[in-house]
Amino acid sequence: MTQAPRPSAAPIKSAANIALGWLHTAKFLTTAPQLHFLPALDVPEIAFVGRSNAGKSTCINTLTQQKQLAFASKKPGRTQHINLFSLGKQGVMDAVLTDLPGYGYAAVPKQDKIRWQQVMANYLVTRENLKAIVLMCDPRHGLTELDEVLLEVIRPRVEEGLKFLVVLTKADKLTRSEAAKALSIMKLNAGGGEVRLFSATKRMGIEEVATLLWDWTHPAASADGANGANALPATAPKMSDAPVDEPPALDED
Ligand code: GDP
Repeated sequence: MTQAPRPSAAPIKSAANIALGWLHTAKFLTTAPQLHFLPALDVPEIAFVGRSNAGKSTCINTLTQQKQLAFASKKPGRTQHINLFSLGKQGVMDAVLTDLPGYGYAAVPKQDKIRWQQVMANYLVTRENLKAIVLMCDPRHGLTELDEVLLEVIRPRVEEGLKFLVVLTKADKLTRSEAAKALSIMKLNAGGGEVRLFSATKRMGIEEVATLLWDWTHPAASADGANGANALPATAPKMSDAPVDEPPALDED
């Protein structure tokens, strides 16, 4: 087995290049209206969540260097679906990126909003291979009420070791001092999670976020130089038939 470069030990530039090359392999895997329709996977999964319009699709597309990838999640029929993208070099899946369509969109009927919030909460609380959650937040608006509820829902898992990152999007719209303030306020609210400024237009934070996601999903490669692509077994998806408990609803009222 050949040894891959060590991203964490390498200079930051090459670690970021490895992470970005890996993210560029993202491919649509599957979509499902509820957790129990998703395949059970034993590769680490990273979920992207956030209020609609927070900049999530743009962030996913920027990280993966694919113009349309996450916009597929906005197609009719997929706007309230869990959308999975596989990641891995040479066709060997070693992680999954999950796009959970944005919440809080005003035009969605209340019943649909509540249903979607339950699907999301169920996924975030019970998805076994979930390794990390990335919460997108437009710092001009800060955390919304729904973001706060989501933080409460995931808190027990974060305390148990689930990785958590808040991405402050559209940072190009902030002055330097506004950005510094937004960063320090969010660090206080992120419950020990990471916080990064990000701008797709100014290409800010891309390498940092990519490297974090790589490190979280390839701990063996990061720690001792094992081949990242082989650090975790890639297995054929199998359908889950496990019973799903009803999670708390993310209620916005
Ligand atoms: P989503 O609903 O969370 O997926 O958000 P989108 O990715 O569709 O972005 C919502 C809006 O914010 C769009 O008009 C984007 O062009 C804009 N946007 C997203 N990222 C950035 C950014 O980094 N800078 C600026 N200035 N606008 C952005």
